[in-house]
Amino acid sequence: MKTDKRALSVYIHIPFCIRKCLYCDFLSAPATDEMRTRYLKCLSSEIERESHKYCAYKVRTVFVGGGTPSLLSGNEMKQLLECVKLNYDVAEDAEITAEVNPGTVNLRKLEGYYEAGINRLSIGLQSADNKELQCLGRIHSYEEFLQTYENAVKTGFNNINIDLMSAIPGQTVESYQKTLKAVLSLNPSPTHISAYSLILEEGTPFGDNPPELPDEETDREMYKITDEMLKDSGYHRYEISNYAKEGYECIHNKVYWKRGDYVGFGIGAASLVDNVRFHNIADIEEYMGQLEKYKEISLPELHLKEDIQSLSVEEQMEEYMFLGLRLTEGISEKDFFETFQKSIHEVYPGLIAKLKKQGLIICEPEDENGNRIKLSDFGLDVSNVVMAEFLLTE
Ligand code: SF4
Repeated sequence: MKTDKRALSVYIHIPFCIRKCLYCDFLSAPATDEMRTRYLKCLSSEIERESHKYCAYKVRTVFVGGGTPSLLSGNEMKQLLECVKLNYDVAEDAEITAEVNPGTVNLRKLEGYYEAGINRLSIGLQSADNKELQCLGRIHSYEEFLQTYENAVKTGFNNINIDLMSAIPGQTVESYQKTLKAVLSLNPSPTHISAYSLILEEGTPFGDNPPELPDEETDREMYKITDEMLKDSGYHRYEISNYAKEGYECIHNKVYWKRGDYVGFGIGAASLVDNVRFHNIADIEEYMGQLEKYKEISLPELHLKEDIQSLSVEEQMEEYMFLGLRLTEGISEKDFFETFQKSIHEVYPGLIAKLKKQGLIICEPEDENGNRIKLSDFGLDVSNVVMAEFLLTE
């Protein structure tokens, strides 16, 4: 008898970069070729070892992120994805994304990625202004981005995201507008744009020695023009910071926001499976050490995972609201009830009506069983304040 398998998303972390950008707190560092080769072997070994836990799943999306996954050669990317396909039931039409940084790929490498099965690229541009790129400590120029984009299109990639950043030190509304215009004038235009504000993170050079940032008013203006210019150019905003052409929303990221099951491989990679959150250890030597030591021995379990947290129903409800409200489609009262066997109004008495009255959310009839609840434009502006209202636990 044929049964429908549950959907699974796979995240693979490549923790290497040519050098650290000044604002970056991701788990990444420069590494030698030997280190990269060693890590990739261990990564494949982890992917293979864990596969028995996911026999009942069909992999719908794979995301190779980092770090800079585009430091991998075409062959290395091919071996990595072959390992996933060999050990997991990957859907034929799975969305398979690789993050790419300009300055680390050429046409040949992109062709290798395409042959490996990558069908979506996410290119980290951040800004079309070379001074701003330098200020961030990025390794690439705008011209190198253009070359990368042209090569990607030439290779056949037709689903490309571009990452942009606002509130960069020295950035003005005009220079940000120029970046948006530059991206929108690409031919063909990208299918997806992610636009985030720079955040100063502790432990980074920017966090420890904060540079002067554009003032709040400028920041808000940049936020506003992102929305206006992208919408005028045929993109719809489907998440607080993400815009897509029709049919090109990132399926993988939507799994995070909708709390679908996903498993992460590689150091620091996070997972959510069956309402249990956990992540891999962050220490690369310990990670590789364990996988190399027990290469030949089929031990039941290695100590690669930590912070294993089985979410309480309250925690699941909170996450459902925080994450679901990030999406402009909002959340469905009916789906909430089906998921938790409790009405949202019973869990949050009076809250929906209060937020609606304050103009922070809107409720649109979905069907006879209830509404869809979404952040209003004002609510999107102050989303953190709205989300805090949905806390159920300390
Ligand atoms: S390229 Fe990305 S991951 Fe690497 S250092 Fe820069 S921001 Fe961090």
